[in-house]
Amino acid sequence: MLSRRMFCGCITAGFFTATDAQAQSVCDIFTPDRQKSTSPEQGIALLNEGNERFLAGRSVNCDLVAQVKGTTSKQAPFAAIVGCIDSRVPPELVFDQKIGDVFCARVAGNFVNTDIVGSLEYAVKVAGTRTIVVLGHSNCGAIKSAVDGVKMGNITAMLKNFEPALKTLSPADGHRDSHNDALVQKVAEANARLTAQSLPKRSKIIADLAASKQIVIAAAMHDVATGKVSWLN
Ligand SMILES: [Zn+2]
Repeated sequence: MLSRRMFCGCITAGFFTATDAQAQSVCDIFTPDRQKSTSPEQGIALLNEGNERFLAGRSVNCDLVAQVKGTTSKQAPFAAIVGCIDSRVPPELVFDQKIGDVFCARVAGNFVNTDIVGSLEYAVKVAGTRTIVVLGHSNCGAIKSAVDGVKMGNITAMLKNFEPALKTLSPADGHRDSHNDALVQKVAEANARLTAQSLPKRSKIIADLAASKQIVIAAAMHDVATGKVSWLN
């Protein structure tokens, strides 16, 4: 019997709601068998459902220590997420995922380099993950810095990663300035999309798994004003 205290925001007037069964499922750890039986598309659906719970204030409060114990000897995450370091966009929170559910690689502006592509190769080839998500977000400081061409320490070199996204701009997008909200959003979306598209080009392992439909690669944007995640492809 599940304790009522395990659920957050999904109990009303002292009785369990229809979300209880869903909550129990959310708290089930990902075993290799559960991972194998979760299709790449179902992985996207699980993330979507998690974001809907998050938006509705119905994030599930699982027994995380039990999950730690359940995943001690083996992890089998269903998704690998490349996200920004932004404090407002922690992937596990905005997708309402728990211990052992998702790999997360985070770097300012959610680009990829050799180390992150290698990490994703580990996720999909060694650990069996079937869904890759590149998660950009609105009002991104890294993207704004790239738009403004900031020169500062190692940030200068890091911003070169956003040149492909900046190249999508045209005169119709207006003045290249971080106060141009629509332009910043366009670059952030282009960066997430192009980063996702670059993965098969940068990795034969990822390309082969994607071509044989064993994995999917998706790009998405998180809105820091609402918490909502929207899919770009
Ligand atoms: Zn950011």
